[in-house]
Amino acid sequence: MAHQVCLIRGDGVGPELVAGVEVIFKAAKVDIDWIDVEAGLKCVEAGKPIVPEETVAKIKEIGVGLKAPMTTPIGKGSVSPNVTLRKKLDLYACVRPVRSLPGIKTPFDGLDIVIFRENTEDLYTQIEYMATEHVAHSVKIISDSASEQICRAAFEYARANGRKKVVGVHKANIMKIGDGLFLKSFKKVAAEYPDIESWDNIVDNQCMQLVTKWKLYDILVMPNLYGDIVSDLAAGMMGGLGVAPGANYGKKCALFEAVHGSAPKYTGMNKVNPTALLLSATLMLDHLGEHEARVSIEGALEATLNKGIKTYDLGGDATTSGFSEAIASELK
Ligand code: NAD
Repeated sequence: MAHQVCLIRGDGVGPELVAGVEVIFKAAKVDIDWIDVEAGLKCVEAGKPIVPEETVAKIKEIGVGLKAPMTTPIGKGSVSPNVTLRKKLDLYACVRPVRSLPGIKTPFDGLDIVIFRENTEDLYTQIEYMATEHVAHSVKIISDSASEQICRAAFEYARANGRKKVVGVHKANIMKIGDGLFLKSFKKVAAEYPDIESWDNIVDNQCMQLVTKWKLYDILVMPNLYGDIVSDLAAGMMGGLGVAPGANYGKKCALFEAVHGSAPKYTGMNKVNPTALLLSATLMLDHLGEHEARVSIEGALEATLNKGIKTYDLGGDATTSGFSEAIASELK
């Protein structure tokens, strides 16, 4: 039976990337019943909320979605459609695997790390105000429940995937109360998993160690803001935003998306790399239990890269559609 999956085609380069994924999934004969749902700039232009309630309700009903990048309108009062979806669907865990891909030369051979980013609190509560005419306050919220939840997700993932080490990342030396609570929660959860090696690192040291000793690391777990920054750093180590996938998990729903945004300046140019959205879609296949399809699509991607077929960001001249067709032809 076909798996039902909600599909947000996104803004900017989003629709071009989705078209590439559709071609590849068709060639892999993965039985997906895509259900188009609306969100993003098109909704705003039609006078609707950026994420309509019907979209939230449909993803809740189906339980799985693939989302192409969306543009956050600039201006007072504009909300990010991405943050809105994460909050409304209670997607508390943002999971970003980074690994070396064949055919993509970087200084970071043997990179294979999964980053768990808490997705619901920290400075992303968007509680900000001017305390005086010249002083702004941005409120950082850290709770033990959300911290324990993301740490548990990281340790559970480690167990389920044969991973050996989980490192908690924080800045508790300075933010002794907020990050101190995250660290306390990390240590409490770590004690429940004696089979998994664990320790903690301060975030600035973690960044330095990532680029000098990346092979030492397996799973990293951290609050929202550090996760946002460290996962983009790690995306760069993997080969750039064009190749870095992501997944957001909640208790009832999962939404898969590339790390990058809608790259508006490339809209309609058939130029950008579909790999990040494709690898997000293969994470989704794992979630759906379609492990064989995941392996064959990733094999086809690797074979294509090994042949030197690459988009501009990786030094090649393949178009979005040409690169997608090349992967699809490996599957036929
Ligand atoms: P961006 O990630 O869209 O693009 C930055 C640059 O990265 C691009 O100019 C391009 O050089 C490169 N890039 C991005 N995706 C690529 C791809 N697939 N292949 C090759 N190169 C790629 O970031 P931005 O320009 O800061 O943001 C544009 C819009 O996207 C904003 O409205 C922002 O709010 C939104 N955004 C959305 C998401 C999301 O949907 N999850 C994430 C980040 C930003």
